[in-house]
Amino acid sequence: MNRDDLYDFRSRTILHNKAKCLKCGDVIESKHHHDFVTCSCGNLSVDGGTCYLRRAFTDPDLWEELSEYED
Ligand SMILES: [Zn+2]
Repeated sequence: MNRDDLYDFRSRTILHNKAKCLKCGDVIESKHHHDFVTCSCGNLSVDGGTCYLRRAFTDPDLWEELSEYED
């Protein structure tokens, strides 16, 4: 079953909402609110743009967080 995690970063400004799938090597980025992007192998999806970070994945050990924030 897929996991679907929502990380709320309203206290921080998100510059880039992106993550890397360690299964296929794709780096995927959600550029706006309803931009739901899935990597080529289907293991990882990102969503939320600069509003929130949503991650859907099949294996929690097979992806890496790469988001950037404003300090
Ligand atoms: Zn993948």
